[in-house]
Parts: sequence; C-alpha cells; structure tokens
Amino acid sequence: MLRIRHLVVVLGDQLSLESSAFDDFDKSSDLVWMAEVAGESTHVLSHKVRIAYFLSSMRHFAEKVRARSYRLEYRRLDDSTNRGELAAELHAALATFKPARIVIVEPGEYRVESMLKTVAAEAGIALDIRPDRDFYCSRAEFAAWAKRHSQLRMEFFYRDMRKKTGVLMERAQPVGGQWNYDADNRKSFGKAGPGLLLPAPHAFPPDEITRDVTALVNQTFPNHPGTLANFELPVTAEDATIALNDFVANRLPSFGDYQDAMWTDQPFLYHARISATMNLKLLDPRAVIMAVEDAYHRGHAPLAAVEGFIRQILGWREYVRGIYWAFMPEYINRNALEATEKLPDFYWDRTTDMNCLKQVVGETLAYGYAHHIQRLMVTGLFALLFAVDPVEVHKWYLAIYWDAVEWVEMPNTTGLSQFADGGLMGSKPYIASGKYIHRMSNYCEGCRYKPDEAVGEKACPFTTLYWDFLMRHEQMLNGNQRTRMQVRNLTRISKEKKEAIREQARDFRAAMPKGKY
Ligand code: SF4
Repeated sequence: MLRIRHLVVVLGDQLSLESSAFDDFDKSSDLVWMAEVAGESTHVLSHKVRIAYFLSSMRHFAEKVRARSYRLEYRRLDDSTNRGELAAELHAALATFKPARIVIVEPGEYRVESMLKTVAAEAGIALDIRPDRDFYCSRAEFAAWAKRHSQLRMEFFYRDMRKKTGVLMERAQPVGGQWNYDADNRKSFGKAGPGLLLPAPHAFPPDEITRDVTALVNQTFPNHPGTLANFELPVTAEDATIALNDFVANRLPSFGDYQDAMWTDQPFLYHARISATMNLKLLDPRAVIMAVEDAYHRGHAPLAAVEGFIRQILGWREYVRGIYWAFMPEYINRNALEATEKLPDFYWDRTTDMNCLKQVVGETLAYGYAHHIQRLMVTGLFALLFAVDPVEVHKWYLAIYWDAVEWVEMPNTTGLSQFADGGLMGSKPYIASGKYIHRMSNYCEGCRYKPDEAVGEKACPFTTLYWDFLMRHEQMLNGNQRTRMQVRNLTRISKEKKEAIREQARDFRAAMPKGKY
C-alpha cells in the first residue's frame, strides 16, 4: 500500500473543502478520512433528526470529496465491521494507512479533541490541529480578550467584533448611532396572531441519500426521541445558500419585531433556521452576515432586524465559542445555584398539562427544532425554576436539537439559560413568571392553569416556581442591580402568601415524578 502523508480527518461538523485541513492537500499522497459511528449518537440520546442531519450532510459532503478526485476512506454506520466509536475507528485507520501525520481542523468539542490527542499519542503519529477559519475570533484571541477584562460581557465583546470587522459600522461609529436595537425587537403578535401571510420556510425534500439515511436511522435508533416524518432540511452547501436567501428575502424584514414571539402550531415564524448549516460548516458565517447587512443597505430590511440578527452571529455565536474553550473542561460541572432535581419525563414525551411546554416539546420532537425564545423562556425557564441539575439540562439540549454542537449548546444551556456558570454568559438569570409567556404567546389560552395565579388549583407552575425562585435566591438577586427590582416585589407579598407559595412549590416538586402536572 502507498504510504500516506496526511490523513485528513473530517468530522461531521467540519464539512467544508475550504477549511484549513485542505490548504496543502496533495491528491497523490493524502487521504481524507470520515467515519459515521453510533457512539456519537448515543453518548447523549440524540433526536432522530439530529442523527439523520449529520449523516446525510456527511454523505453529501463525501460525494463532493470524490468529485474532486480526492482519495477518501469513508466508514459507514451500516458497515458490518464498523466499531461504533470514533477512537476505535481512528486507531484502526492509523494502523491500516500508517500516515506520517494526522491533519484536522480544531474540533468543536473538548471530548473529541482530547480523544484525538490520546489516539495520536498512543499511535505515535504527529497530530496537526489547524485553526478553524469559520470563526472571526480565534480561541487564542478570545482568551487574550478575556484576560484584558475583569468582567466578561457579550455586549462589549460584540462591540469589539463590530469594530474589528467593520460590520454595520460607519468609520468608528455603529450604523444608526446605536450598538444594540434590542428594545425594538420584543413585539408579540397580540390577539390577532401572526396571520395567514406568514411565509413558509423553503423545504428540501429528501433525495436518495437522505432517504437511505432516514431508513438507516429509523432502523438503527428506533428508540431515540423524535420522528423523521418532517425531515426537509438543507444538507448541502448549495441548499444552505438557498435557505439563507429564502430567509433574507421573506422573513428577515419581520425577524426583529417578532424574534421573541411564540404562537401555537407555528414553530418557525420569522426565524432563519440556518444555525445547523453554519455549525456543520455548510454555510460560511461571513456569507450570512454579508447577505443580511446587504439587505439593510438596499432598504429591504430595517436596521433593528438586521442588527439583532447580526448580533446573534457576530456577537453571541463567537462569544459562546470563546467561553466554551476558555473554561472547559470544568465548565460542564458548574452549578452556581446548586440545582439537583431530575429532568422531568415530559421533556422526552410531552405528557404534561402545561400547554406552553406541551407545545414546545411537541414541536421539538416533531422537528428537532425550537426557536431561541422557546428554548430560553419555556423549556429552559422551567428547568431553571424547577432547579433541574444543569448537567441533565445540558444533555437534553445537546441530544434534542438538530443544530446542537457542544461548543454552542453548552454555554447557552449551562450559562445563559440555567445561570449555572454564575454569570459568565449572562449578567443575570433569565427568570419570569407565566405572565411573560402569556404576553409573548397564545399558549395560556389553551391551558388549564392561569398565568397570573401563584397558589391554588389553577396556579401556573411557572408563576409559583418564579416566586419560589425569588425567595430561594433572594440574597443573590438582591446583590445584582439587574434583578434587584424583581426581587423587591417580594415585599408586596404577605408572609402567609409566601408560605403558601413555598408549600405549593414543594408539592409541585414532589408530584412531578408522578406526572401529575
Ligand atoms: Fe404555560 Fe402557565 Fe401559560 Fe399554562 S398558564 S401555558 S403553564 S405559562
């Protein structure tokens, strides 16, 4: 067998031929290596859509590698010799091909990067981990930025990124004179709802590769959550560009206004649904930002919508990646609020009377998708108020969403949603009562609970647990100027009512495992 110079390892979330791993690819001496392994779908109980999305995108990418006449070793999940784990497959590949060097782009997960280093060291083969150029801010650059700031705040990082890239800038000033237009982006649909004119997102009917994959996933992972009945997702770079253009043309202009709104049986509203395509490297974030910024300059979309969207990518996306790599591996075990409850079963099967959760978990099981406010202010909020162990919450989010890759999922869950990092990701816990959900959706209209009641048979569990949370964490919330006003409302509640709320919260926690709610 011909001696291999570089074994170029391409993971399921590294599907770009423009990546640094291919910078010096030599057709005559290098080999691309990809592997589908069951272990990556079972280390957390992955949604069928998440598994199928990765596998279908990988197989479509493999076709591109072949089309370039690059040599490729592709290990299929349904190959009877497949060892089921990435480390075992890579060990075998190194023994077979004996490359001089393993080349790979920085993995998105600490666990995988550690595994690669171990396998390479055990095999005695050099490992060349190259920068991930998809990000505007490298790991080292973020670490240096974090060192310069005594308090880490996304908003200041985001402003620095705007200055560095020139995105939405006019010389040294932000376009429009403000850095952040969030205050304009919090509308609800009111009683009328989103109406009939809501544009349906572009659908991508499964081709033969995707149909093979969905059959394989249904056969191999029958007991995993979710369904593949609605799988119409962009699995190639070309499809991802169509999805981006569809968003910019049809939904971006209203994205800002309604980005926090929710509505029964409307899972997508004005959201882009392109995060998975970026996370798997089918779509370059620079192309996304250029297209969205251009929509503003040609008068197609208002500044508030464009700035709000760009902040998600240039601000939050870069910031969470920086936080992840700066604070792993200890970050996963953070539990600042000492939350220890088990994740309720309804997160997996939607058997609850709480209509907001029934809706959001139902859509999550149907599509592997929920938009950011559904994740933060329904499923995340409930887990936070209920005091679920943040590791359990993290595992659920990593498993259940089709765009979930650990570097982006964990800081958003452990930090922003559960405040388990004590304030690295967000400057305050995102807490609210059922009244917030009532204001931003129509979920409460179909619910047996009342969002403004904290005690009694019809009390909304969110509202009970919200007041209970304020009492349990009164000291911490009092010491934070962003939550001080919220906690002051406790002074308006009588001693008797406080005790009744505590008792209701206790009953609620005790009854939850029996599925009473
Ligand atoms: Fe959710 Fe409470 Fe509203 Fe019911 S009343 S939908 S539980 S917020």
